[in-house]
Amino acid sequence: MYTAAFEYHRASSLEEAATMLSQIGEGAKILAGGQSLIPLMKLRLAAPSHLIDIGFTSGGSYIREEGRLLRLGALTSHAEIELSPVAQRIAIVHDCAAGIADVQVRNRGTIGGSLAEADPSGDWATALLALSAEVHLISPAGERTLALDDFIKDAYTTALRSNEVIAEIRVHVPDAGSGGAYICLKRAAPVYATASVAVELKLEGNVCRQPAIVLGCVGLRPIRVDGAEAALRGREIDDVALEAAGEAVRVAADPESDMRGSAEYKRTVAGALVKRALRAALGRARGEIVETSHLYA
Ligand SMILES: Cc1cc2nc3c(=O)[nH]c(=O)nc-3n(C[C@H](O)[C@H](O)[C@H](O)COP(=O)(O)OP(=O)(O)OC[C@H]3O[C@@H](n4cnc5c(N)ncnc54)[C@H](O)[C@@H]3O)c2cc1C
Repeated sequence: MYTAAFEYHRASSLEEAATMLSQIGEGAKILAGGQSLIPLMKLRLAAPSHLIDIGFTSGGSYIREEGRLLRLGALTSHAEIELSPVAQRIAIVHDCAAGIADVQVRNRGTIGGSLAEADPSGDWATALLALSAEVHLISPAGERTLALDDFIKDAYTTALRSNEVIAEIRVHVPDAGSGGAYICLKRAAPVYATASVAVELKLEGNVCRQPAIVLGCVGLRPIRVDGAEAALRGREIDDVALEAAGEAVRVAADPESDMRGSAEYKRTVAGALVKRALRAALGRARGEIVETSHLYA
C-alpha cells in the first residue's frame, strides 16, 4: 500500500529540524533511516502530514570515545556501530548492533530512530539500559540530557517533546574488569526477537559487583530485574546463582502471548537466555574472547 500524501522537508542540520518541528507543529514527524516509520506509513498506521528528513544533515553520525564516555550521534546507523572498532570495545553495544535485523536494515536504520520509536521489541533500549545510557535532546528552547530509563516511558512512548530531536546517545564506558553480553532468541534474522536479555557486570576477583540485567520483548518496555541482580551481587557466580537469576527473570518477565509464542514460552526463553548471557559476560570480564550470536528457533 502507498503512504498517505505528505509534504517532504529536508533539514540541513538537527537544529533546523527542531525549528521546523516547532514551526509546522502538529502533523510533523522526523524521518531518519525510515526503517520503522515508512513501513508504518505504508500500512497507514502512521500518516504524518509533513516529514522532516534528517538523513541528509551533516555531523549527526559519529562514534567517539571521550574520556569515560562513548558518544554516538543519533544518526549513526546500526551497521556503522557494528563495524566500529571503538564501539566494539563495549561488548553489549557490538552484540546489539550486529544482531539487528539484516544488512539492509542495519545500513539504513539509526540508533536515534530506534530509541525514538520505543518499540518494545526493539533492541537498543534493552541493551543500552544495562549500561545506564543517556539521551541528549535539542529543541529551539534549549537542550537537555535524560537517563534512558526516564526517556523510555512505555510502548512507543518517550519523553520527547513535540519540538525535540535526539542529537546524541551517551554511554559510560564500563570499568576494567567488566563484561557484558546481549542475546536474543529470534525466529529469523529480519524479524524482531521473541525475547532478549542484556547483562553487564564487573568482577573483583571472582566476586560479582554492579550487575545490571535488562529484559526486552517481554513487557511494554525493557524490564530491569532487581531480583536477578540481587542474586548475583557480592557473590561468586556459580550454578546456584545462575539458577536463582534465571528464576528471578522468569518471574519478572511480563510477556503477552502472540505469534512469536505463548507468554509461558517467552518467560522460559528469557530465563534461559539470562544464564547464557551471564556466562558470556563472565568470560569477557575475565578477559576471554567470547563470541556470541543470537539464537534462532
Ligand atoms: C524488516 C525489519 C526488521 C527489523 N528488525 C529489527 C530488529 O530485529 N531489532 C530492532 O531493534 N529493530 C528492527 N527494525 C527497526 C530498525 O532498527 C529501525 O532502524 C529503527 O527502529 C528506527 O530507526 P530509523 O532510523 O529507521 O528511524 P525512522 O523509521 O526514520 O523513525 C522512527 C521514529 O523515530 C523518530 N525519529 C527518528 N530519528 C529521530 C531523532 N533523531 N530524534 C527524534 N525522533 C526521531 C521518527 O519520527 C519516527 O517516529 C527492523 C526494521 C525492519 C524494516
